[in-house]
Amino acid sequence: MAIALSQFNEVRLDRVSREFGSLNALRDVNLTIKRGEFIALLGPSGCGKSTTLNCIAGLLPVTGGSIWLDKNRVDTLKPEERGFGMVFQNYALFPHLNVRQNIGFGLKMRGTAKAEMERKVDEALSLVRLQGQGHKLPGQLSGGQQQRVAIARAIVIEPPLVLMDEPLSNLDAKLRLEMRAEIRRIHNELGATTIYVTHDQDEALSLADRIVVLRDGIVRQVGTPKELYEAPAHLDVADFMGFRNKLKGKVIATDKGRAIVDVEGAKIGGVMREPLSIGAAAYVAIRPDDLFVAESGENALAVIVDTAEYRGREFVGTAHTKGGLELVFRSSHAVEPGTAVQLRAGEENTLVFAEPI
Ligand code: ATP
Repeated sequence: MAIALSQFNEVRLDRVSREFGSLNALRDVNLTIKRGEFIALLGPSGCGKSTTLNCIAGLLPVTGGSIWLDKNRVDTLKPEERGFGMVFQNYALFPHLNVRQNIGFGLKMRGTAKAEMERKVDEALSLVRLQGQGHKLPGQLSGGQQQRVAIARAIVIEPPLVLMDEPLSNLDAKLRLEMRAEIRRIHNELGATTIYVTHDQDEALSLADRIVVLRDGIVRQVGTPKELYEAPAHLDVADFMGFRNKLKGKVIATDKGRAIVDVEGAKIGGVMREPLSIGAAAYVAIRPDDLFVAESGENALAVIVDTAEYRGREFVGTAHTKGGLELVFRSSHAVEPGTAVQLRAGEENTLVFAEPI
């Protein structure tokens, strides 16, 4: 390798763009990742997550901007010169090579001596808890075990960066949870720096030190899981963080970071997350968990209940307003479909956003 990349303090994307013809898949993406961080790239399908990862890996050239490991520019290097570990959704194992050979492949390519290779493969097998499975072919393993082999293969070369693209998507729900914990354990044990693509906010919230939310090739917000969960900066980020109720209205008053929004004639107060002036169109965003059947009509929305499902401790309901807004709410008691009720959330749990871009 031309330069030693294994020691570094940070990875930096500097105004990275990627165009496909007239499509701007990434636009001026700026991002700094510290050594040892676990970063999740989160966003809806087509927002540019895989393109970002592939540009970092070198599988796709950038069409603008640059990528750096400290003072070393890496976007001009070939993928093998960057030497980052990659884990794909479909595992991408060699079907005719056994587990040991799959894991050792990258070391062999690098001309690692046999004894050292065997030792490193043993270590990797043990890290992903596949001791005793080394002689098997990928076809003889379960999906979860194949994913462990793919992870071992990525990390055995001791890469400066581990890049994972939706690695759990092909696993069933139970295994996904198990492997999620495993991926974080492996990251911690290795002291790795990991960039992880997902469209699943639970995965991002539970795994990452910081989450990067993308939309239409633009970074919308970067923050810790807590920051994003509690204080999404835009409506689309809030949507990803579980604010399913998004009610369009008009700002009628503002005061000290709070706004009152007229939604179909109801006055709904909330925390202003973007600057808004009186008269502006706005969205009120509320999580279903925070929206309850209210005793009075004050600060509440009048709705007709559509459904109410028993969920053990409480009921989860859907309802609509006379203007056709659809809502999801909670209730501690049974509510009959067809009845008129008032729904209210605490002001601290109600966020107010500008119209989406
Ligand atoms: P998904 O979760 O569906 O994989 P993503 O967020 O990873 O989505 P990308 O795969 O990065 O999204 O795609 C971003 C945009 O770039 C999309 O509009 C996609 O159609 C487009 N795109 C990606 N690869 C190519 C390509 N090779 N040629 C043309 N357009 C592409």
